[in-house]
Order: sequence, then structure tokens, then C-alpha cells
Amino acid sequence: SYRAYEDHDYLFKLVLIGDSGVGKSNLLTRFSKNEFSLQSKPTIGVEFATRNIHVNNKIIKAQILIWISLILLHLRIWQERYVLLSIHFFQYRAITNAYYRGALGALLVYDVTRHVTFESIKKWLKELRNHTDDDIVVMLVGNKSDLRHLRAVSTEDGKAFAENENIYFMETSALESLNVENAFAEVLTQIYHLTR
Ligand code: GDP
Repeated sequence: SYRAYEDHDYLFKLVLIGDSGVGKSNLLTRFSKNEFSLQSKPTIGVEFATRNIHVNNKIIKAQILIWISLILLHLRIWQERYVLLSIHFFQYRAITNAYYRGALGALLVYDVTRHVTFESIKKWLKELRNHTDDDIVVMLVGNKSDLRHLRAVSTEDGKAFAENENIYFMETSALESLNVENAFAEVLTQIYHLTR
């Protein structure tokens, strides 16, 4: 059997979504490589990483993707006064579908110091619901919890939103490595329980 040559028992695909600058890249590198960068460049295109974790004596390979929506990419390019790319709507749909295809879990990330990124969560959740199965495991993640003096979204508001939408919730700091492991592990564990 091919199974014997594989380094995992299960392969779970996760997607990281949320506004630009909320810390998706750094959550990914903190989880996959235990690294953090203060001056990380904006993600252009797709970022991808894997890591194996143990759940109930099984090895789960997490395959994690971040994809900067092309609409945001357009805006960024526009803002930077470069040529506006023209991408047909059907291509946009095709790429969006490919990104979400097969995803069993999603981390929906906002920045606790920027309220506008919390307001965007509704839009991200809608996009997620439009492209994935109903039983996808979703966690709302309030990142940058280390910036206590700059906080603009309370823990209670995050928790209430998550309870209302029936999704999981955690506050993290990619900088201080706080709850990052827990957030990914919780999503992967819940997927594991659902798939058995
Ligand atoms: P992305 O656009 O969502 O992928 O966001 P990035 O991972 O590129 O992060 C955007 C900026 O926020 C970078 O300057 C990071 O160093 C910073 N950042 C990310 N996570 C944290 C965090 O937990 N705490 C703090 N203080 N800064 C963070």
C-alpha cells in the first residue's frame, strides 16, 4: 500500500481569510515554522505551508492556504498607481472556487486593533459559506492581542459574534506566539472528530 510511504494519517486543508494586514501570513509562519516578521511584505498570490500535528495518536497533516483576493489585489495596485489589471469575472470565480475547494476548516482573521477588519468578517463569512460545505469547521480569530493599549474590538464582541454564527472563537498573537498553536490545533481536532 502507498499508505506506508506517507508521513501522515490524514490530510486536512485549511484556509486563512480576512482583510489585508490582519496577520494571516504571520499566523501561518508562526504555526508552520515558528517564525514572525515585523516587516512582512503583503501577500501577492497564494501562500502555502504544511505542518504535521498529533491528534489522538494520529498524524494529521495540515495544508494551509492564504490567498489574497484579486479584488483586493486590484485595489492595492490601483492605490500604488500601477496599471490596473483586467481580469475577467469568470477567471475570478474559477480561482476563488479552486482556493476554497476541499477546505475542511477556515480561520477567519481580524485585527483586534482595527474595528473595520472585524466589520469585514461578515463579508468573509458569506464568501466562505458560498464556496464551502456546511460542515466546514470555522474559527473566528482576533489577532494582535498583544497590542493591549490599541485594542478596538473587545473580547466580548468577538465572542458574541462567534456564538451568534455558531463558530469557534479565539484571540491570538502571532508576535507573542499566544494561542496560535491552540487555534490551529482546535480546528484540526474538530475536523478529525467530524471525519470519523
Ligand atoms: P496579512 O496581510 O493578513 O497576511 O498580514 P501580515 O501577516 O503580513 O501582518 C501585517 C502586519 O501586522 C505586519 O507588520 C506584522 O508584523 C503585523 N502583525 C501580524 N501579527 C501580529 C501580532 O500578533 N501582533 C502584532 N503586534 N503585530 C502583528
